Formats: sequence, structure tokens, C-alpha cells
Amino acid sequence: MKSKIIYSSKKIEVQSSPIEGKGVFAAGNIEKGERIAIIQGPVCFNENKTIHDVLAHPDWICFKEHYWVDPTCPCKYLNHSCAPNAGIRGRRLLYAIKPIKKGEEICFDYSSTEVELRWVAPWTCHCKSKDCRKKITSIQRLPKQKVESYIPFIPTGVQYYYERWRKNKSR
Ligand SMILES: [Zn+2]
Repeated sequence: MKSKIIYSSKKIEVQSSPIEGKGVFAAGNIEKGERIAIIQGPVCFNENKTIHDVLAHPDWICFKEHYWVDPTCPCKYLNHSCAPNAGIRGRRLLYAIKPIKKGEEICFDYSSTEVELRWVAPWTCHCKSKDCRKKITSIQRLPKQKVESYIPFIPTGVQYYYERWRKNKSR
């Protein structure tokens, strides 16, 4: 019996991860700019009235204010990295932002998909990248250069929200 499950894109598989639990790995070499997968799962609306609402679903992927995708397998296993090799475009398209070798874990920066200022991941990051931030927060707390380095691989609605937030802040 095979222990690896290969998904329809044939580019990814789920295995245990040195970062956390299970992770998504490249089943073959992936080129920079290549679409890796469509993140499947229901859209969830949440007004985040209380801090409990804010922190309740750390695995949801925000694509615009108050809206998230609750990812199903395999993308629910995508881990965070402070030096990611993938990012999300539009609402739910996962792209390689650098070349990814077969067997490498595929990660994105969870801060690139969260606009809720009160949000903090309920764990300390151990991604081992040299600029690991340890604390994972919303996009507003990233250095501006870091945000710019991710564009266009930030969900469109998150980009709009971030630009509006910056304008209001500088007023
Ligand atoms: Zn990190």
C-alpha cells in the first residue's frame, strides 16, 4: 500500500513535515511562476466581533476582509514559512514564487493572507529561515518591502485592503 497520496495536479503530495504535523511537498520539480494548485474548500464569512472569533480558525485562508477559504485536503496541510516558496493569487490559486525542487516542502507566508490586526498565530514559528519572525501576525505588521516582494502573490482582496489601510494610516 502506498503511503503517499498524489493529488490531481500531480505536483503535490502530503507527507509528514519537519515544520509541523503534515505538510504539502513537491511531487516533481516546479518552476517559478507555475500554478501549483487550486485551494479547494468552502468560503466562510466571519465578522470577527470578539477576540475568540479572531483566533478560532488559524488554518483559514483570508482572501478579502471578513472572507476566508476553509481549505480541504491537500491544501489544509500547507505550512507557514517566513521565507516562502509559494503564494496565493486571486482567491485560491497557489503559485510557486521561486523554483521548487521535487521533495521540497511547499509553504506560503500566512501573514500574506490575513488582514485582521488582532490576529496572531497560536504557535511560535520554527520555519528555520534566517529571517524567521517567530510571531506570525496580519499583513499590516510585515515590513512594507516584504509585502511588496510578494506582489502579485497576495490574494487580490488582501492587496486592496492593505493599500487602503496604508493610505488611511499616512493621512
Ligand atoms: Zn518563521
